[in-house]
Amino acid sequence: MSVANRISTMTIAFDNTYARLPARFYARIAPTRVREPRIVKVNYPLAELLGLDPALLCSPEGVQILAGNAVPEGAASIALAYAGHQFGGFVHQLGDGRAILLGEVVGADGGRRDIQLKGSGRTPFSRGGDGRAALGPVLREYIVSEAMAALGVPTTRALAAATTGEPVVREELLPGAVLTRVAASHLRVGTFEFFAARDDREALAILTSYALARHFPREASGDPEYQNDALRLLECVVDAQASLVARWLGVGFVHGVMNTDNTSISGETIDYGPCAFLDEYDPKKKFSSIDHGGRYAFGNQPRIALWNLARFAETLLPLMADDTEQAARLATARLDRFSVRFDAAYARVMRAKLGLALEDDNDAVLVADLLERLASNHVDYAVFFRALCTAAEDVSADEGLASLFEQPGAFHTWAEVWRRRLLKEELTPQARASAMRRVNPAFIPRNHRIEQAIVAAVDGNFEPFETLVNVLARPYDDQPNFAYLADPPLPDERVCATFCGT
Ligand code: AMP
Ligand code: MG
Repeated sequence: MSVANRISTMTIAFDNTYARLPARFYARIAPTRVREPRIVKVNYPLAELLGLDPALLCSPEGVQILAGNAVPEGAASIALAYAGHQFGGFVHQLGDGRAILLGEVVGADGGRRDIQLKGSGRTPFSRGGDGRAALGPVLREYIVSEAMAALGVPTTRALAAATTGEPVVREELLPGAVLTRVAASHLRVGTFEFFAARDDREALAILTSYALARHFPREASGDPEYQNDALRLLECVVDAQASLVARWLGVGFVHGVMNTDNTSISGETIDYGPCAFLDEYDPKKKFSSIDHGGRYAFGNQPRIALWNLARFAETLLPLMADDTEQAARLATARLDRFSVRFDAAYARVMRAKLGLALEDDNDAVLVADLLERLASNHVDYAVFFRALCTAAEDVSADEGLASLFEQPGAFHTWAEVWRRRLLKEELTPQARASAMRRVNPAFIPRNHRIEQAIVAAVDGNFEPFETLVNVLARPYDDQPNFAYLADPPLPDERVCATFCGT
């Protein structure tokens, strides 16, 4: 393979902390050159947030960097080591098989972020893979991760997408592409598992303090009296994951491949493989073609997050206490927080969707009852909640809402209880409706629209992709000209299965 042999003259103010960790945390490797790089998209606002000049990224020099043909000065250029549980089974070594961390930058907001090329060629962790990414999955990750950011869900971001001018071999020949991904970090539960599986306590201690300092600095400098770093980190990650998954459920997101190597320590959504958004509400819904048992189905996600956190806790046991039983007791107490934290976060999310500002004991029942009715009547999740915003200020919208249900009465009986509950709060209907419109999106990245954008792009037409990205940047605003992007799929547009696309 021909490796990027040029140092680019473009300067990026890298400050690479991960590359200063011991050598066994990563492999130093340059991206592999590609034939004919072309920019598909540069994310201007994100570039500016990172302190990068977006126009420079679009320049011939920038293209070379974003496709992996040149490495900017000061880049780390490393592939990270990690392991992970995939569908419940442990894999001793995974690692960045097709990604290279260029380095870290500190943005205008003071936040430190990784800039990573994904699809940039083989690394020592590639195993049988080609190190490449196809255009489809790259655009999919671009669209969905940016939509998640605009929806207010913690997520990695997409700084750029470039085509390589080289085909990749999947079931068919597809155009190759490279995604430039931005993340709070690429630390995963699987990173800790990598070292735990090798009994490398020293590495685990280094990772623990690194993760605390990078992601939870307040806790890192917090009250050291009664707990150690490993316990504090476990607590923070439990909280971050509980809150993250609650937000997924609020927007109808199915991650699709919640393996521990895809579980970020920072609490961001990471790895947009076979992910999808619900059309009709169905807690058993799964899209991924390889998730045969529905392990990662929509409604299973909180349970799986806890399972992943238990694997995380196991890696930290040796750091928690010398006595194994004592360590297990301490860890279990932290894991027990998950359901409390998740329930509270989920209740907050769902109350807001219903236009409720205050807590009430019966809210959980009100929510559960509604969800059951949505499921048994095959009602579109996003369409329902967006229409409910209107109903909050205009009772005459009820008829339209009821018509979304196979049994319209199922809506009316629930709505009676909901309206009585609204009376307990003082908000004006207008204020309530506009608060609801800030949490119930008009636009979500619907699978069929993503597929259509990908098919067009593979054919050379990037317009549907551009439109989708632009509309999804403002998911809470009505954009009447693009109402068709808010609509559920027609029967023949439905996408039933998604693929990892690796
Ligand atoms: P994922 O399913 O994308 O989370 O990837 C799981 C593992 O497979 C990670 O270690 C990836 O780096 C690796 N991998 C996925 N696709 C490729 C590829 N095309 N070439 C090399 N490694 C890959
Ligand atoms: Mg992954």
